[in-house]
Amino acid sequence: MKRLRWNCAPRFVAYSMQGVISVIPPVEQILSDLIRINTVNPPGNEFKVARYLQELFAAQGIDYEIIESEEGRANFMARIGTGTKKLLFLSHSDVVPAGEGWDFDPFGGEIAEGMVYGRGALDCKGLMAPQVYAFLQLAKEASSLNGMLVFAATADEERGGSYGVQYLLENCPEKIRADFVINEGGEGPRTINGRRVYFVQVGEKGTAWSKLQAAGHSCHGSVPTMGDNAVLKMTRALYALGDYKPKISLIPEVRLLLQELIRLKGLEEPLDETNVDALLDRFTDRGFAETLRAMTRMTVSPNTIAGGSKTNIVPDECAASVDIRILPGQDRDYVLSELQRFTGEDIAIEIGNYVAPTFSSAESDYYRLVAEATKEQAGAGALCLPHISPGATDSRYLRGAGIPAYGIGHMAEGSDPDLGATIHGRNERVDIDSLYFRADFLMTLARKYLC
Ligand SMILES: [Zn+2]
Repeated sequence: MKRLRWNCAPRFVAYSMQGVISVIPPVEQILSDLIRINTVNPPGNEFKVARYLQELFAAQGIDYEIIESEEGRANFMARIGTGTKKLLFLSHSDVVPAGEGWDFDPFGGEIAEGMVYGRGALDCKGLMAPQVYAFLQLAKEASSLNGMLVFAATADEERGGSYGVQYLLENCPEKIRADFVINEGGEGPRTINGRRVYFVQVGEKGTAWSKLQAAGHSCHGSVPTMGDNAVLKMTRALYALGDYKPKISLIPEVRLLLQELIRLKGLEEPLDETNVDALLDRFTDRGFAETLRAMTRMTVSPNTIAGGSKTNIVPDECAASVDIRILPGQDRDYVLSELQRFTGEDIAIEIGNYVAPTFSSAESDYYRLVAEATKEQAGAGALCLPHISPGATDSRYLRGAGIPAYGIGHMAEGSDPDLGATIHGRNERVDIDSLYFRADFLMTLARKYLC
């Protein structure tokens, strides 16, 4: 069912601080407003989102709090209900730069033909807007809630979270601590042989970003045999890394996920480490297949290289950086020994940014509630499966602090499955039906847990 669109909605600036006007804007309007607030990180400027939310929440008579981690870097929080149970709706206010080549204004927030257009439409203002909408709706029934619903729009997720979730956990953990959290990070749903499948992210691979350094001797470029060329050493090492075949390792969550997907696709073969690649090659949706493949092994991607200073000088140094994502059971020592095996002794290796993989149980009552609420929203025939993400979100900090976090990327039936590819890319956009689907899912979940 198509929702009524409200293109001529009153802007948020028209809301009365005395709470006289209490109409909750449509979710697409909230998202459009959020997109038009430029929060490209750096610098972030998330306080602008906090100001917007302040007006919206104050108009509904909801108490809120703005926690600044640094000038301009604001985290907005609000809570409704009382009791010992606590559910947190989490999203981040910052976005990545738009880059070139868009077919529309990335910060225009245009609403047209059932879609909302602009940077953040999915990541992550496309989750924030439904969370805001659901929270404001639930505030009307706050007195009947048997527990607390917490809303947090945090800063700096796209640059590591040190001004956002990490800051809150270090400086005021009691404010963000909850029984469980709904955050971004889930794969978008797929329809497989007529069956609608929804995914809940229960874990994230770890990070072991590594720096490679080659040293040589410089000399005049006209007599290169007098020197020792560091750029050549590095390129040889990187070519060797290109041939690296990481060991396939099916952790229980991924094995279960792949088994279910293979069954749904009617591929009868039993799954094991030796045939997983061949089975994934038979998936027609390449983006999905490659995401699944990345869940089955450590990934190694040399992504930057810098060396030499002048065309006529043989370079004496060259540096490269490698994005490495690890599975449980793989640690610093494992990464270092694997890299060294392929790059040789000539290359110095240092792991800069290291984060271990993090998980929340897919066997918990919280996971079951998320799955139930998803199925209630999507219809009886829908299936809900746990998955792990090859990338990282703020959930890693929460899980690290012992707080279960579940990532969702729920979309309405009929939504274009390719929209997910616009995240961090060009022409980011979302359909309005999916925004309402998310809002309805969030309200169902909160009522299930807190009523
Ligand atoms: Zn994000």
